[in-house]
Amino acid sequence: MMTLYANKRNLLNWDDHVLPESIDHTSKEPLSNPENHGGLTGLENLSLGAARIQVDDKRIINCRADLNQLVPFKYTWAWQKYLAGCANHWMPNEINMAADIALWKDPHGLSEDERIIVKRSLGFFSTADSLVANNLVLAVYRHITNPECRQYLLRQAFEEALHTHAYQHVIESLSLDEAEVFNMYREVPAVARKAAWVIPYTQSLADPHFKTGTPENDQRLLRDLIAFYVIFEAIFFYVGFTQILAMGRRGKMTGTSEQFQYILRDESMHANFGIDVINQIKIENPHLWTTDLQQEVIHMIQEGVDLEYQYAKDTMPRGILGLNAEMFKDYLKYIANRRCAQIGLPEQYPGTPNPFPWMSEMMDLKKEKNFFETRVIEYQTGGTLRWDS
Ligand code: FE
Repeated sequence: MMTLYANKRNLLNWDDHVLPESIDHTSKEPLSNPENHGGLTGLENLSLGAARIQVDDKRIINCRADLNQLVPFKYTWAWQKYLAGCANHWMPNEINMAADIALWKDPHGLSEDERIIVKRSLGFFSTADSLVANNLVLAVYRHITNPECRQYLLRQAFEEALHTHAYQHVIESLSLDEAEVFNMYREVPAVARKAAWVIPYTQSLADPHFKTGTPENDQRLLRDLIAFYVIFEAIFFYVGFTQILAMGRRGKMTGTSEQFQYILRDESMHANFGIDVINQIKIENPHLWTTDLQQEVIHMIQEGVDLEYQYAKDTMPRGILGLNAEMFKDYLKYIANRRCAQIGLPEQYPGTPNPFPWMSEMMDLKKEKNFFETRVIEYQTGGTLRWDS
C-alpha cells in the first residue's frame, strides 16, 4: 500500500524532473502528423510539451490531435445537438401508464390486431435500441476521433439506455411475457429480418484489429454509419413508431404512445446527428464517396424500404387504426427520398407523397408539450438518494 502511495506521489511531482513511464517524453513528433495512418483513441500516453490544439487540427476521423480537449470547437453542430438532447431530457417512469394497464387488462379493450402491433413493436424496439447502443459504444465511438462528436455519442448512448428502459417499463406495466417479447428478434421473422440485416454493419468496426486510415476501411466506416443511422434508426423504426402513435391519437395506449413520442424525438435527433457526421466525413474525405459506394448505399436503402414494408405487411395483415400496409409503402418511399437527399444521393422514389404528415409534427422538438413544463424535474428525490445513510 505504501509503495503504491509513493509511486502516486512520484507521478504527481513534476519538480523532480522524473517523468513517469506512462508519459511519452521522447517523441517530439506533432500529434497531428497527417503521415500517421488511423486516428487516436484518447487513451495514448501524454505528450509533454506538444503544441496546443488548434481548431484546424481537428478531424472527424483519423485525427492525430489530442482527443481529450473538448474545445476549441470545430463541429458546433455536434455540441448544439448535445445541448438539445440534454434540454429534452425525460425519464420513462415519469409517464403515467395507468390507462394503458386498464385498457390492456380489459378483454374488450383492444382488438387482437391492435395487441399484435403493441407486442411486435415492443419486440422489435426492446432489442433494437440495445443493438444501437452496443454498436455506438463498442464499434462507432472508437473511430470517431472528435471530442464534441463523442460528447454527443455519450449522450446518445444514454438515450438508447433510456429507450430500452422505456420498453421494459411498458412490458412490466402490462405484465407481458418478457421472454416472449425480448426473444422476438430471434424468433419472429418480421422482427428478426431487420436485426439480422444490420448486424454485419457493426461487426467489422467492433473487431479490435480494425483500424481506419486506409480508403477501404474508411469507406467501411462510412457505409456502416449509414447502415445504422440512415437505415436502421431512420427507416426501420418508422412503421412501429407510426403504428403506436396512431393508437395514441385514437386515445388508446396513451402512456405507451407518449413514451414512443419522446423516443421518436430523440431518434430524429440521432438521425440528424448521424447524417451530419456522414456528410462531414464526406467533406473531409471526398475520395471515399465513390460511385461504387453510392450505388451500394442506394441498394442498402432500397433493401431497407423493402424489409420495413415487409414488416408493415406482417404486423398489419388487415387495415387497422386508419392505417394499412399499402400506405406504408408510400411512407417508406417518402422517408427514403428524404434520407437520400440528406446524404447527397438522388431521390429513388421521386414524387412519392407523405401519407402521414401528422408524424412530422410528432417529432418536432420545438413543439414542446406539457410534459416538459409540468413534469417532475427534481430527479434526485428523497426516495432515490439517501445522503445521510
Ligand atoms: Fe437511437
